[in-house]
Amino acid sequence: GKVKPHTEIGGKSAKGPEMGRAFAYVILGGGVAAGYAALEFVRLRSDAAAGELCIISDEEVAPYERPALSKGYLLPEGGARLPGFHTCVGANDQLLTADWYREHGIELILGTKVITADVRRKTLLTSSGETISYKTLIVATGARALKLEDIGGSGSDAENVCYLRNIKDADKLVNVMRSCPGGDAVVIGGGYIGMECAAALVANKIKVTIVFPGKHCMERLFTPKIAEFYEKYYASKGVTFIRGTVVSSLEISSGKVTTAILRDGRRLPADMVVVGIGARANTALFEGQLAMEKGGIKVNGQMRTSDASVYAVGDVAAFPVKLAGGDVRRLEHVDCARRTARHAVAAALDASGGVGDIDYLPFFYSRVFALSWQFYGDNAGEAVHFGDPDLAASPAPKFGAFWVSAGRVAGAFLEGGTPEEYAAIANAVRRGAAVKDVAELALQGLAFVARE
Ligand code: FAD
Ligand code: NDP
Repeated sequence: GKVKPHTEIGGKSAKGPEMGRAFAYVILGGGVAAGYAALEFVRLRSDAAAGELCIISDEEVAPYERPALSKGYLLPEGGARLPGFHTCVGANDQLLTADWYREHGIELILGTKVITADVRRKTLLTSSGETISYKTLIVATGARALKLEDIGGSGSDAENVCYLRNIKDADKLVNVMRSCPGGDAVVIGGGYIGMECAAALVANKIKVTIVFPGKHCMERLFTPKIAEFYEKYYASKGVTFIRGTVVSSLEISSGKVTTAILRDGRRLPADMVVVGIGARANTALFEGQLAMEKGGIKVNGQMRTSDASVYAVGDVAAFPVKLAGGDVRRLEHVDCARRTARHAVAAALDASGGVGDIDYLPFFYSRVFALSWQFYGDNAGEAVHFGDPDLAASPAPKFGAFWVSAGRVAGAFLEGGTPEEYAAIANAVRRGAAVKDVAELALQGLAFVARE
């Protein structure tokens, strides 16, 4: 049934404290997953009535491709700016500006935070005091950056301490970066944000020291051998790595950090600090109302939560990954946001129950300096390296690894591949290519997947 805004819902009159708008479908959150969910909705329901779908976001702008924030947005010149990178530009699809939503009758409620959700009553209360009702809710609240305060530290309020999750953060980072040309940056964390921001800082002629507790950068995905390649490459660009320790405090003067003090007592001068110490899924609205797993909202293969009217997608969703034997995973990556969003919308709009379970091939990637890598699948089992990650041999080396588990390729990483080669490794993982001899696999490298 089609529900128009400002109408009655559930037999209740829209009056008094219940007053507010009602929509058949509400997407909560306005990030990557929200944008792709809206596009899928329009594709599948070209006959949708205006006002059937609404998106509520606490950001001030229509959904955009978040990956641009740590790449194009931080370029020293000619950086990517909105409206240029609204969804779905990264996927070579339509550019969904605010006008697109209007033209398709989708209500875009921006700059509005949902402060409570009542799953039983199917209502959301917003920061502006409005109660919005839904028949079907798609939770796309994503994740937030962990703060220094979350791990027992302090200093987040300083003028030159930067995080990177949204446009506001990116604008602050750009301003701070431009305020200290030739200065020193301390980057806390050696994960995605740390590595991508470090590369951007170098491009902006800032001297970078990265500090993280592990032995290597990107420790959860990279093998030590892979990590060493990137660390050497970064070192050749002037980046210093301080491993196996943490920043224990920040010295602040007149509202600005001047020095980062390490646990071992070392003092690092800092004109700016970038913090990338992980993300937490935004689940708080639904704690105690929906089943949770892996730090996210648990869903089935249709992206449906423990409540039949509520779906969850993107960073916030923990879903069964068939390729990993049905293991429930929460993946904080853009391809996952795009695909889970589409799948949830297809399932939610499908009255016949014909939409099957999602069969997702995990896909992560990054681009830094002149480098570019892709990873598919699961980094489980024995890592078998191939190719030569030697910078002296080639400034643009091509190398990678297969993860072999129970005699099959479970995961694959490739730096410097062509589109065909990336497709070939993805295919080998998807098919679970059989490996008879790992020594031979190491020698064959990409020839192994070309044969596949
Ligand atoms: P988000 O995009 O985070 O969107 C969540 C939305 O919900 C936000 O608009 C948020 O403001 C809103 N929201 C949350 N709570 C509320 C509330 N209570 N009320 C109203 N609105 C709310 N992945 C890759 O695979 N490759 C990359 O290169 C890459 N680069 C990245 C670079 C950066 C800087 C960041 C931060 C992430 C990057 N990622 C990358 C990860 C990718 O962007 C995320 O996986 C993706 O954005 C997840 O989409 P989402 O819609 O689930 O969450
Ligand atoms: P990550 O989880 O990738 O990395 C966090 C890093 O911080 C890890 O190296 C972790 O080390 C380290 N760390 C943990 N505690 C401390 C500490 N006390 N001091 C210093 N370092 C610490 O998160 P990010 O913050 O880098 O990224 C945030 C989100 O953005 C993620 O969801 C990520 O997927 C996404 N993103 C994705 C990109 C991509 O896919 N290309 C690009 C940019 C962001 P350890 O592992 O040893 O705990």
